[in-house]
Amino acid sequence: MGYLLDYPVAPELQAFQEEVREFLRAHLTREVVEERQSGEWGNGLGRHGRRFLREMGKRGWLGLTWPAEYGGLGKTVMHRFILAEEMEYADAPQLGTGPSIVGPCLMLYGSDGQKREFLPGIARGEIAFALGYTEPEAGSDLASLQLAAREDGDEYVLRGQKIFNTETHVADYVWLAARTDTQAPKHKGISLFIVDAHSRGLSVQPIYTAGDHRTNIVFYDDVRVPRRNLLGEPNKGWYYLATALDLERFFPVSGVIRQLELIIWHAKQPRPGGGSPLIEDALVRRRLAELVVQAQAVRSISYRMAWLLGQGSVPNIEASILKLYLREFAQRVGRAGVEIMGLYGQLRPSSALAPLGGEVEKYHRASPVLTISGGSSEIQRNIIATRGLELPR
Ligand SMILES: Cc1cc2nc3c(=O)[nH]c(=O)nc-3n(C[C@H](O)[C@H](O)[C@H](O)COP(=O)(O)OP(=O)(O)OC[C@H]3O[C@@H](n4cnc5c(N)ncnc54)[C@H](O)[C@@H]3O)c2cc1C
Repeated sequence: MGYLLDYPVAPELQAFQEEVREFLRAHLTREVVEERQSGEWGNGLGRHGRRFLREMGKRGWLGLTWPAEYGGLGKTVMHRFILAEEMEYADAPQLGTGPSIVGPCLMLYGSDGQKREFLPGIARGEIAFALGYTEPEAGSDLASLQLAAREDGDEYVLRGQKIFNTETHVADYVWLAARTDTQAPKHKGISLFIVDAHSRGLSVQPIYTAGDHRTNIVFYDDVRVPRRNLLGEPNKGWYYLATALDLERFFPVSGVIRQLELIIWHAKQPRPGGGSPLIEDALVRRRLAELVVQAQAVRSISYRMAWLLGQGSVPNIEASILKLYLREFAQRVGRAGVEIMGLYGQLRPSSALAPLGGEVEKYHRASPVLTISGGSSEIQRNIIATRGLELPR
């Protein structure tokens, strides 16, 4: 671990932190990292990533904070914080949608049958979920979603289109938001479903981001879902979604800190041809120093989130503050990296001359998406302004 990341950990958690590091040394193979970095398989849902997640499942870490009755270990939020930070720093697959969002929502709102059918498989790393919310005309304004779920006997029939549904091509199930009442006000006609990703009538088309990550357009052409896969009550989906969105906003910060460490390391190296290291340039030093201060700020904000969660609160504006600051900080780090490296900084990972194997260039290219996915920066600012500062809408 680098000096920037060596975050303070309470004595009773240090053994767990060491256990996670030990696990990563043993199981995070080059294949798992390469698969994740390729962007083709989402958050580790390729062959190697799935094996890695099953190993985590064997230790109970996919249900780390879940109660024992659902196959969890009942550990604290700080355990989860440490697990997420260590995994992100090592570029390992994160816990994913099933353990972080679907599992906790099922525990709150799912039927006994759903809990029996899905929770053990999620905790063992055998069942993976994709998120099916966004549509071409419903992103920031998610309540406008139109994909129709029509009742037909003991089934619902799904018809419509989703966009930017990452991982649907490799997941087992989709956690899907659909419209079950077209007459009700928009927030009151939405339901949540668990849809088999291999259902007849479901087809997936890839879209690639500037950072080479795959996401998808997904078509639902009369896809049939059994009624037992409806979450809770029909038309209450918006309320369940609100819980799910709050659960999604647990962002580890060590990935961007690792990028900053890499850039600082690079700046300290002798330059090809015998030039003095970049760090000796006062402007470079000043820029890096500013980013180090911001890294400490982002770390503090994430500690506050973890502390609030540990108190049993659901962070709301705090989650928006972290999302906004972290994702914009990531862009500043990526930009600083390629600019400090000069023209070489623009070389892609495929070039033998790319500094740091092109990692910072790729990070820079991928970083604009981070301020869009999971709720855009503008929307986070709106939340902070209206809910946090109580400014008028
Ligand atoms: C790489 C990637 C992966 C994603 N993965 C998933 C996924 O797995 N599942 C899923 O369901 N979705 C996913 N998304 C979708 C993501 O959540 C949406 O893209 C995001 O919420 C923005 O919605 P939009 O793209 O429709 O943009 P729009 O909502 O059309 O917004 C366009 C622009 O207008 C701004 N804007 C919109 N409304 C306001 C407002 N009220 N005030 C101020 N500014 C506003 C936005 O900030 C943005 O800059 C992903 C997106 C990306 C890019």
